[in-house]
Amino acid sequence: MRMYEIIEKKRDGMELSTREIRHFISGYCSGTVPDYQAAALLMAIFLKGMNKRETADLTEIMAASGDTTDLSGISGIKVDKHSTGGVGDKTTLILAPVVAACGVPVAKMSGRGLGHTGGTIDKLESIPGFKTALSINEFISNIKDIGIAISGQTGNLAPADKKLYALRDVTATVNSIPLIASSIMSKKIASGADRIVLDVKVGSGAFMKTLEEAVELAGAMVDIGRKVGRTTSAVITDMDVPLGNAVGNSLEVMEAMDTLKGNGPEDLEAVSLELAARMLELAGIGDRDTCIKKAREVIENGRALAKMEAMIEKQGGDPGITRNYSLFKKARLEYSFNAEKAGYIESVKTDSLGIASVLLGAGRETKDSLVDYSAGLIVVKKPGMWVEKGETIVKLHTDFESRLNDAVSVLKESITISDRRTSLRPLILADISCSGNVTVY
Ligand code: URA
Repeated sequence: MRMYEIIEKKRDGMELSTREIRHFISGYCSGTVPDYQAAALLMAIFLKGMNKRETADLTEIMAASGDTTDLSGISGIKVDKHSTGGVGDKTTLILAPVVAACGVPVAKMSGRGLGHTGGTIDKLESIPGFKTALSINEFISNIKDIGIAISGQTGNLAPADKKLYALRDVTATVNSIPLIASSIMSKKIASGADRIVLDVKVGSGAFMKTLEEAVELAGAMVDIGRKVGRTTSAVITDMDVPLGNAVGNSLEVMEAMDTLKGNGPEDLEAVSLELAARMLELAGIGDRDTCIKKAREVIENGRALAKMEAMIEKQGGDPGITRNYSLFKKARLEYSFNAEKAGYIESVKTDSLGIASVLLGAGRETKDSLVDYSAGLIVVKKPGMWVEKGETIVKLHTDFESRLNDAVSVLKESITISDRRTSLRPLILADISCSGNVTVY
């Protein structure tokens, strides 16, 4: 079998066989297929697409390209959740303790920030002492002991995806539905959960800019889950507006803790409860409404917060931090970005808020940049809200004055104020059931 013919076949819009896809992936991982041929095939896939069978094959072959996590030693149905990435998206920090407090084991492997979007592992590392690099044995033993662990990806998970993702990043082939779907699902499958809930974000702060694209991506991933025997459902949620008010690592952790105490922003609580309920539903706890009720109950009776505290203690942090935020590092400078005129906040470019937060030090500008856990921003006035001239719209936190100037320039371009109040779309835009039924709200 020759790579040349595989590229030619896909270039001409034909279907690749399982053997051909395997030849490509194993050759690219071992180095016998060079970058230029892999890039040519990726571009052919980008332009001609892949059918459901090809996408499922690509996913399974990538999932099997490295280590896979065996969670069978933990009793019960293990449900994972994955978000396609957003700004201010700290739902994992809320739903993981909520689901665990409802008695469903949470074995969550999470990532770091990517581009303008944040990552759960960076957020958790803002808790002094919190250890995110758990060995697989520690990971499993923590879940057996307290029902929850959140760790960075252990071992060599889906290395084919890692290599291909880096190539896609520099060959303009990231934004392809079969490539994104197989990339995400290969990592989820290798992580070992039995069932998966996907939060596909849509809007100015997300990869998917339109509802149609988001539904197509979600449908492709649900379909892969069905084909490979991992029941998967998806929710499409809005990312035209940041979720909650905080963007930046420790600021987001404190907001998540507030939400676990029942004092969080409404939008954040609503999306977190919805996702938690979908996870509980997949774990067989009951229908959606029963699960929402159970999720709400463990927030109200303090069991979800207690679960968060147990996880912090088990992973090396001081659980008292949930009641004493002064244990977090505080940024040296705080600056208010104020309205130049009165009016309604019409729109906020959510990706720009993410970029401003990275410029303040909350994310990485290069692969090796150090993250400042205290840096970030609080969006005080969100779209649809009235603001007086001179009133604060965004509060910025950083250690360095030069970073403030860069972030403020970005904010000036990303927030518009108008006389008319624009209507906001719902937070939950659609859902895709495990059998692939789409409901648009
Ligand atoms: N996230 C991933 O893990 N892979 C993609 O291709 C896009 C987003």
